[in-house]
Amino acid sequence: MKSSSPILALLLAGVATTASAQNMIIRGGTIHTGVDGATPAELVVVRDGRVSYVGPSVATASGPDTVVINLKGATLFPGFTDGHAHLDGIGWREMTLNLEGSTSVVDAMARLTAWALAHPEGVIVGRGWIETRWPESANGARFLTAADLDAAAPGRIVLLARADGHATTVSTPALRAAGITAATVAPEGGEIRKDASGQPTGFFVDAAQSLIGRLMPRADPAATRAAYQAGFRVEAAYGWTGVHFMSAPWKDIPLLEQMAEAGEAPLRVYNSVTPDGAAALFASGPRSVADGRIITRAVKLYADGALGSRGAALYAPYADAPGTSGLMQTTGAEILPIYEAALRAGIQVATHAIGDRGNGSVIDWYGKAMAAAPRTEWKGGEDVRWRIEHAQILRPSDYSAFHDLPIIASMQPSHAIGDFHFAPARLGEERLNGAYAWKSLVDRGVIVVGGSDAPVERGDPLIEFYAAVARRDLEGFQGPDWHPEEAVSRETALKMFTLWPAYASFREGELGTIEVGKRADFTAFDIDLMTVPAAEIPKGHATLTVVDGKVVYEREASR
Ligand SMILES: [Zn+2]
Repeated sequence: MKSSSPILALLLAGVATTASAQNMIIRGGTIHTGVDGATPAELVVVRDGRVSYVGPSVATASGPDTVVINLKGATLFPGFTDGHAHLDGIGWREMTLNLEGSTSVVDAMARLTAWALAHPEGVIVGRGWIETRWPESANGARFLTAADLDAAAPGRIVLLARADGHATTVSTPALRAAGITAATVAPEGGEIRKDASGQPTGFFVDAAQSLIGRLMPRADPAATRAAYQAGFRVEAAYGWTGVHFMSAPWKDIPLLEQMAEAGEAPLRVYNSVTPDGAAALFASGPRSVADGRIITRAVKLYADGALGSRGAALYAPYADAPGTSGLMQTTGAEILPIYEAALRAGIQVATHAIGDRGNGSVIDWYGKAMAAAPRTEWKGGEDVRWRIEHAQILRPSDYSAFHDLPIIASMQPSHAIGDFHFAPARLGEERLNGAYAWKSLVDRGVIVVGGSDAPVERGDPLIEFYAAVARRDLEGFQGPDWHPEEAVSRETALKMFTLWPAYASFREGELGTIEVGKRADFTAFDIDLMTVPAAEIPKGHATLTVVDGKVVYEREASR
């Protein structure tokens, strides 16, 4: 392919002189376009932030405003989008005590001690611990307790959230400051864990966390902005070109919009706002700023809690705790009017549901709301694309509802490979058939959006992709009851992080594949995800992140 191309020369001649970084030539590596059946391309040309050519290599002429990128053997993909992430939490993880990856109670508490010494004043806030693989948990879940925190950081008010954010352990001074005693009753949908003598252990589950929320230091606007900047930085370096921001705090939407208009939002953000913003968002309708960089068009609601803290609502009791079947966080009477209002406002609904009962309830409620509100009153038409966030444990008899209603399943591959170390004990053999059942849903024509749920998980697209195609943990381990048949093909995994998140944000016409006319969002990795052995996938790195034809992250000079 050495012939010169007059067409391409024309494409690049006289390109716009403003927004100079938006004209680009990329070559020097395999280019997967994400288009079904297409052979890999060798060259992408971008003009004014959109793809103007993709295909075999041809000679190109570049003007002075054209950025020329040599992939140097890296592999280019359509922009990876995290379909479920908490951008604020990702940023705060960088700014507070990060307990992610702590290997034991001892390790986590050593980190707390070091942090306490380095930050001798004020409340200590941390996040990211997860007990499931700690040696101290060998004889059952060993959650952090106030006694652990008191020993590691004597006299301090400490709040340490479990990685999933569905439980928090606080220190004894924190219990005292919040006025929590043996007599304190947990609110509906929550639990204050107590020891044999009835004293609180410091461990708060789900809605009970509200009792200690007021101890959290108030984030001032400058710190909040810094947290979002940190979140953007981390996400761009992982190779994400966009995130679906779940539980985006309603109060932060104007800030994110300002940041985008000031050029401080390098990535796309699709906001699904906290329930407290529902009424205001219904009144205003969908919002979009900075040429669609920040779009706010969805509301996040909650049906139940999480599996790790046994807050997920099940039809039958937990296999390892026969006294409980989890906690619903809402009722049909409470949530149906919100769903109907969303239909009338043209706002997408995304409901958190983990347990089979949580999911079955949401399926039932979605159907009821859609039947109750006349379709002629649905603002924005019938193509509502409602989602269930997690869709983690399903009755196989509920799979077809995702296709029929339809419902988008927004699922997190890394949850499966982490949770499968304890899910069999929680659920028992029978319910594992419908656990993290990606392939069963895809085979029924369901759109399955891939996400990381960071900071619940690390938020690395390569870990997510690997988990989706291998269904093994990062050491290569796969338990006998991990249902390997639910792993997906690499083509499907790619869609889960590119085209399908685009669809779930109503933007598949502009995003999700590398095609002429679409926006120039790309992710390059130093490995070819479609061909390397699966075990190599999590060892790779993002090398280049491009949004709207602009480089927002580059691992090393590749020009
Ligand atoms: Zn989440």
